[in-house]
Amino acid sequence: MIDFQQTVRGWRLKKLRRDRRELAMRPRLGQETSFRPLCVLGIALWLGLIIGLAELVLTRVQKPLTDPSPGLFRMNRHIMWTIPTVNLVVFGFCGLVAALMLRARPRLGVRVAVGPLVFLATLTLLLSCRWLHVLACLVLAFLFAFRLTRRIESGLPAFRRLVRRTLPAMAGLVAAVIGLSLGGQIPGVRQAAAPTPAVSAGGQDAPGPNVLLVVLDTVRADHLSLHGYRRDTSPNLSRLARRGITFKQARSTAPWTLPSHASMMTGRWPHELSTGINHPLDGTHETLAEYLAANGYATAGFVGNATYCGIETGLGRGFAHFEDHELSVADILWTSALGQRILLQGMFRPERRTGGTPNDYHRKDAAQIRRDMLAWVEGQKGRPFFAFLNLYDAHDPYMPPTGFDRHFGLRPRSAADMSILERWFIHDKKKLTPEEIQSVLDAYDDGIAYLDEQLGELVDDLDWLGLLASTLVIVTADHGEHLGEHQLYGHASSLYDAEIHVPLLILLPDEAHAGQVVTAQVSLRDLAATVADVTGLGGSPFPGRSLARHWAADASPQPEPSLSEVDAPVMSAPNQGRSPVFRGPMKAVAAGKHVYVRNGDGQEELFDVEADPMQSRNLAGLPQVQSILDQIRTDLDRLLQAEAPVGPRSRQD
Ligand SMILES: [Zn+2]
Repeated sequence: MIDFQQTVRGWRLKKLRRDRRELAMRPRLGQETSFRPLCVLGIALWLGLIIGLAELVLTRVQKPLTDPSPGLFRMNRHIMWTIPTVNLVVFGFCGLVAALMLRARPRLGVRVAVGPLVFLATLTLLLSCRWLHVLACLVLAFLFAFRLTRRIESGLPAFRRLVRRTLPAMAGLVAAVIGLSLGGQIPGVRQAAAPTPAVSAGGQDAPGPNVLLVVLDTVRADHLSLHGYRRDTSPNLSRLARRGITFKQARSTAPWTLPSHASMMTGRWPHELSTGINHPLDGTHETLAEYLAANGYATAGFVGNATYCGIETGLGRGFAHFEDHELSVADILWTSALGQRILLQGMFRPERRTGGTPNDYHRKDAAQIRRDMLAWVEGQKGRPFFAFLNLYDAHDPYMPPTGFDRHFGLRPRSAADMSILERWFIHDKKKLTPEEIQSVLDAYDDGIAYLDEQLGELVDDLDWLGLLASTLVIVTADHGEHLGEHQLYGHASSLYDAEIHVPLLILLPDEAHAGQVVTAQVSLRDLAATVADVTGLGGSPFPGRSLARHWAADASPQPEPSLSEVDAPVMSAPNQGRSPVFRGPMKAVAAGKHVYVRNGDGQEELFDVEADPMQSRNLAGLPQVQSILDQIRTDLDRLLQAEAPVGPRSRQD
């Protein structure tokens, strides 16, 4: 039988010995009193410098675990300076508080003054491992910090010497990283590439019209009143259409952002480009911005979709000025583990799903992009300009900015309504009621109406500045959006018209050909050639043909088949497993009233989009369409024989 008293006595003896050991390890009184407030501040800054660099390294090293794309693709390049800066500021602030406390109560001791700083340091490092749950990080940080603080306490003189000796070197290293990053000297972190020297044959100072390319991200043509939609979603576009040329059957080359934009910028089909799920646009083909810059244009890009239009994607090439990632205090905080997982955690919004890598906290709304662009234009003082705008407000989650108070159909009111909107991408739509789904579809129209309003203001502003008459304005969309057709939602999932049929409006300088409507089907791939043609600069490096053939006085263009492509799913969400793109790389050809789709498993579909715009009846098996099918297959083979891609690439990832 265990002697209880003896057990207690043994336990007390052990405790006594431990206390003696700790007492012996504690610094003597003279050392305690020399632990001054300035010393705590120094330790805090030293920790901030080390942890900032360590978090940066951890973030970069872990990226391949969740995202196989190279470099900073799909990340925010500003992390190179924001992560060290946030840590320095947070630790500096905490050190200041600790120093003030120590000043008020000099006998607080190392444990109270330094312990919380050590806890913060270990917590930050653990939070940088985004696969670790926040609660686990907190518990582990507490345990590590407890032991580390005791060791620091026992070897305080040596620790202080270490801090004193290495602080200047650490400060220099962090300053160099921040400075080089801000200066654009770190590969992959550069601001917009400098315009290439005259790569085209045009003159350096050719006076041409300004060029404004506005891409409405994720806007399908048939949800615009301009295209006959039942709701008045686009009164301003309709107003603009009376001053320009409307293309009723414009088609994007891809159902998602990056390849579609890359195609517009280079005049190339997606299969000719390096762009893929994990691949940015490489430098093989000259871009519209490079061409115009080489011809004396001031060039600038202003994008809302920073993930797939930012500099990291290669789309910034040729722009002398490029604004993508927001750099508000919240956005800068959001790039750090501490900011993202603790400080701003309660304000999570699903648009920040980025595979666990730090990205943007806010998305820039169209009003801000419009203001940024106009401020830049006014600074050009008459020099011809090329401005590219990507407006992101119709992309999911369909939530127009606060203050926009126009709503179609059901108006989201409750927290539950907002939650459905916010989490639309990840919701299993089969579990939602028809009313809930309808409320989301209504909100999509709200986003389009907001974009239309901003577009109206932008054009009016240009008019007021006296620039509209000398500007070629192109308004289009990079792709559409499925809203339940074929039981699909979102985009990058198929090549049906819901994702490929996009609006296209061209306003020529001096409003030439105002009010004209083109019903022939055209491809956005021809935009680059069109800009080269209308600006009259000559020496166009872009394949494709100018769309001017459709508005010329003697226009009777032969219909030309247009190609659309998608290789792999961009992002997985619940219930997206049945999307056609999951069956492999897809191709689609539109020729006249027919749209042909070749699925990844070889299955063919043929639709008569005049008689069946919703593409609900596949005609491919009917004997009477076999000659049409043969012709389209030949067209597809010819289109795919266009220039092969150059350089290393891996498409099927
Ligand atoms: Zn897009």
